Amino acid sequence: MTTKKVESVMAPKPAHFVGDGFRVHNFIPGDQRFGMKRMDPFIMLDYNAKHYFEPSESPKGVGVHPHRGFETVTIAYHGKVQHHDSSGGGGIIGEGDVQWMTAAKGVLHKEYHEKEWSKQGGWFQMVQIWVNLPSVYKMSCPKYQSIKNSEIKKIDLGENGFLELIAGNYNGEKGSATTFSPLHMMNAKLNKGGKAEFSFPEHYNTAALVVEGNITINTTEKATQDHFVLFENVGENFTIEADENAIVLILSGEPLNENIVSHGPFVMNSKKEIMQAFEDFNLGRFGYLED
Ligand code: MN
Repeated sequence: MTTKKVESVMAPKPAHFVGDGFRVHNFIPGDQRFGMKRMDPFIMLDYNAKHYFEPSESPKGVGVHPHRGFETVTIAYHGKVQHHDSSGGGGIIGEGDVQWMTAAKGVLHKEYHEKEWSKQGGWFQMVQIWVNLPSVYKMSCPKYQSIKNSEIKKIDLGENGFLELIAGNYNGEKGSATTFSPLHMMNAKLNKGGKAEFSFPEHYNTAALVVEGNITINTTEKATQDHFVLFENVGENFTIEADENAIVLILSGEPLNENIVSHGPFVMNSKKEIMQAFEDFNLGRFGYLED
């Protein structure tokens, strides 16, 4: 077993708004150099760093839009998000909760600040990750895994802190969400001076997002809050130590190594399938949802 070294520690790019409710720094695909392939199967990561929203009578967010060909995973650290979709589904993602939505062949949905939370305003911090689906599952039926914080598998690390195992495995324990390809997703919630060790196959694409605090990786590399740590595809093991109380989102997944053709909210394997997605959307085959 050899050490998985840090390839780069990336500072957040300037934030932009998604709708009027999500002020995000994009880390994946990032720039041209980074692209959707580098962290395959994680093809998009938007990070809403901690931001204060003033009270608003009308909830801010993103209006009705479609998705096809992948999954959206929303992790709430501060604030509350409400969503509705064209199948009549909906729910609230509160602090510490995770929503794992398999868009697959297609949903229409809208995402916005929860009504009562919006009236109060407050600190808001979220991550949304798009997890690509293997081609054989891209046109399967949509589904939700709405995972309350109390349902997320916790791994006790003693005085170091604990892990929230959202998906995948850690030391033989199994995460809460089911996935369509092998991947690991977890929040390391570490106390000051606390340490955690991780081990993933070297060909798995692996990264860490520092959601809170400052950390040291492999005893020498430093990363501060809101920075994204990309690991080399060499070696398996790395350690994270919290220089102060820290929350670190860890991602590691086996690349699908399939062709990626994306256009806006559709991610498929060929241009033809993207054209089909537009046609289906325009013909109302994604259903209907009121604005
Ligand atoms: Mn969406």
